[in-house]
Amino acid sequence: MTFFDDELKKGNFQICFCRDCNITYSSYRESCIKCLKKTDRKKSVQKGKIIEFSRRNNDFFGIIEIENGIRLMGSIIPLEKQPEIGQKVKMSVSFDKKPNYSFTVENNQ
Ligand SMILES: [Zn+2]
Repeated sequence: MTFFDDELKKGNFQICFCRDCNITYSSYRESCIKCLKKTDRKKSVQKGKIIEFSRRNNDFFGIIEIENGIRLMGSIIPLEKQPEIGQKVKMSVSFDKKPNYSFTVENNQ
């Protein structure tokens, strides 16, 4: 179990970055690819917006962009009948053999 997975289990998404090189990693890395130093981590605010989505039966899935331009895939829980591109969402995370991300549309249009 990595630090990242452990944090997901607690409901926290950790953003991995290098302060010196000003690089944000879209997935978890122990060390920076450029300077090879141990990466810095910060807890995400877990808010984002819908970039694109598709429908499977009555469920929606899509790509969400959170802070630092990080894009994640997961299920989308719409406010009404269907989500819309650009809507703001709140991210929930968990870990069960693999990371699970779900995004609830916020009522803030
Ligand atoms: Zn670096």
